[in-house]
Amino acid sequence: MSSEAVIQIHPKLLLDAALKYAERGFRVLPLHGMRGAICSCGDKDCRSPGKHPLTAHGATEASRDEMTLRGWWSKWPQANIGLAMGDAGCVALDIDTRNNGHLTWESIIRENGDLPETPTQRTGNGAHYLVHIDPELIPRVRGKLGPGIDIKANGYIVAEPSIHHTGRRYAWDDGLDVLQGFTPARAPVWLERMLVEPLGEKISPNSPNLHTITLPQQLTEAADALSHLNAEDYEQWIEAGMALHATGLGDVAYQVWVDWSVGSTKFDHKTQRAKWLSFGRNRQTGVTIKTLFSRAQSVGWINPMSIKTHAPEITAENHPLANFLPYALNDLEPDEFIFDDVLIAGVTLLAGFTGIGKTTALVPLMTRAAHLCDPSDPLRPILRRKVVYVSEDPKQVIRVLTSMRLSGELTANDAEISEWFKIVPARRMDAASIVKVRQTYETLTHRNTDSKTGVSHDTMPIVVFDTSNATIDLENESDNSEVGKCISTLKSEFGGIPIIIVAHLAKTLKKADISDMTSRGAGAWEGDVNQVLYMTKEDDGGRWLDVLQAKHRFVTRADGILFHAVPTETDGLDILGRAKTISLLHCQPEMVEKGGRDIIQQAAKQAKEAEREAIGVMMRSERKKRVVAILVGLGANQYKTKNELCDEMGGKKSLNMDLVDDMVKGFEIEEFKPIVKRFRQHTTGYRMPTNLAQNYQNAKDGC
Ligand SMILES: [Zn+2]
Repeated sequence: MSSEAVIQIHPKLLLDAALKYAERGFRVLPLHGMRGAICSCGDKDCRSPGKHPLTAHGATEASRDEMTLRGWWSKWPQANIGLAMGDAGCVALDIDTRNNGHLTWESIIRENGDLPETPTQRTGNGAHYLVHIDPELIPRVRGKLGPGIDIKANGYIVAEPSIHHTGRRYAWDDGLDVLQGFTPARAPVWLERMLVEPLGEKISPNSPNLHTITLPQQLTEAADALSHLNAEDYEQWIEAGMALHATGLGDVAYQVWVDWSVGSTKFDHKTQRAKWLSFGRNRQTGVTIKTLFSRAQSVGWINPMSIKTHAPEITAENHPLANFLPYALNDLEPDEFIFDDVLIAGVTLLAGFTGIGKTTALVPLMTRAAHLCDPSDPLRPILRRKVVYVSEDPKQVIRVLTSMRLSGELTANDAEISEWFKIVPARRMDAASIVKVRQTYETLTHRNTDSKTGVSHDTMPIVVFDTSNATIDLENESDNSEVGKCISTLKSEFGGIPIIIVAHLAKTLKKADISDMTSRGAGAWEGDVNQVLYMTKEDDGGRWLDVLQAKHRFVTRADGILFHAVPTETDGLDILGRAKTISLLHCQPEMVEKGGRDIIQQAAKQAKEAEREAIGVMMRSERKKRVVAILVGLGANQYKTKNELCDEMGGKKSLNMDLVDDMVKGFEIEEFKPIVKRFRQHTTGYRMPTNLAQNYQNAKDGC
């Protein structure tokens, strides 16, 4: 049992609240409550403590019926209360501070203006805002508004006086209390637009990218043009609607029309919508966005997009090369590293051959950057930062993390891991589009504070693009100027967020010779990145990330990182639900200090020699048999010279020579000096000693 005090609410409070919500028009649902620190479902590892339905079919069973509610709370007097969302266009914004939802919300409010007064509930880690939108839009509401903000347009929220798993009680703000009869406000137009998935544009409901909401350029221009026109004028109003409708941009275009028309005294949402829908039925109007532009131009509008912006002319006064930097010695600013002395916080290229298993090695390394590893791990950097892993194969990333968990290397729980190690499915786009995600990633900034010095340093997340091919749209990867432009965009427009770009080297470069790779491998990428690292495969199946030989601009105390392959297994199910052993693999990184690489290689070489020697010993007996076989077959007075004998034995001649000498010393064969009459000179001959030869002969003859 937990040592925490068990918070209980008088059952009558819960039932009364449930009935009151029903009275206010909400459908209500009984949820598991908290028993101390444990969910009432009894599962210590419950994934949704105090939040999941007690009924079998969840939110679909939510009810407004008094008898049903009384029945539920008499059966489960401590049940938390769920309020069904979506009814009559009621939507909840769920701000989660653990995922920086409050920061996202702040930036949205800053850009668009505040919400009208609307029911606001404090949750265990954030807030709920309830708003009303057009009920017809409910099916098109997105799942997320941005990082840390979920949108609940169906399903349910937990409501006062329920108990959050942290022990805190859900509570409506004074004056904005649903229980007191306060009703949700109509969502402002900008919010409604953000809540709804634009038609014709595919955005994943979980897309964390707020910037997908920015208007297409022609709509931005149209909005600007409209500001010169009068929505009170019926003809202009209709023409503007037609022009916007003709863009084919659907509701995004409709909202531009609404935003402009709202200023008119005649504005009515229903009329506006009906008119918009009527445009679809008679397409051949000839009105296009250009009609709108020329109408606006006739009253003095100049399209700001058509004005070319000129860079200021370089003069003697503003010459950039005359910008003398003030500096002082002994005032060194320390470099920021992802991994101290190994990987600098900049744009890094990590190159390795296709199929070498870069992900298997890189994912475990990155968990160290997020301090998800053992505190004593030598690779654990002094600065902790979040990881954004953009992967062409998210499943593989999850498998590698699972393998680490199985081996005991990853001890953090799922919540902490997903908080610190974000996985993003890769999508190929140009650098200019990639950098638009910057604001979202900046919310992942983490403040590191040294407890002794009190000095703080904010670390931005490290973003891994695995691989370059899957994430960065380049027409030609070996075009220096194109790659150069891409990297300079990433450097200048990404706000200094450190990046690792994983690149495949051509398979034809087989040998793991790094000096060879640096001259031909990464090619166009190399010149512009801050650091290049090469990964090679070791003979033992491990991987080697070379720091010393790679391009970098700092003095390092490391030779590189050695990755040891760690295979793991787990019980799983196959696709038909049958038990199956699943084999996984990850690599455990080990920092190799300067000079350590040589020692490791030396040791590997010695191990190899020892192994070779062992093989030599094993084969020695085989080779001896061959010597005997050759010599036994000779007639009387016949012999073999050393050369003849060693050639006939086959294999490595120098080893054979040594073996012959050894056999002579062991009296296994006989060396003598026959006279070669023809040349009147001595030579050295080899034959079987008479007694042994006889033995062999007898054995052969079967006597
Ligand atoms: Zn539970």
